[in-house]
Amino acid sequence: MTRTIDTLTRAARHGMLVRAACRCGNQRHYRAGDLALLFGGGRDPRSLRFRCSQCDRKPPTVAIIEVDLDRTGALTVWKPVAMPDGATAWTPERLKRG
Ligand SMILES: [Zn+2]
Repeated sequence: MTRTIDTLTRAARHGMLVRAACRCGNQRHYRAGDLALLFGGGRDPRSLRFRCSQCDRKPPTVAIIEVDLDRTGALTVWKPVAMPDGATAWTPERLKRG
C-alpha cells in the first residue's frame, strides 16, 4: 500500500520520522510531530531545509521514514528545545521499543 505523506501532520499521525541524510554520510532523524510544532503541520517535510552539521555542503536529502523499533532496537532522534532567547537547540533523544 502506498500513501502519500505530504505534510508533517500526516507523517506525525503515522508516527513517522523525518530523516535528513547528507552525502558525507552524516544523517539525523527527527520526529515528524516535533517538526510539525516547530515549522507548522501543513509543511511538506521535503521542503524543510536542513544543514549538515559536519560538512556544510549541499543540503541533506530529506526522507520520511517508518521505523520498526522491533527490528532496529533503538534509534536516536533530535528533539527541538526552545531556548529562553527564542532560538532552538537540538538535543539527542533515544527512541526505544515499547
Ligand atoms: Zn555532510
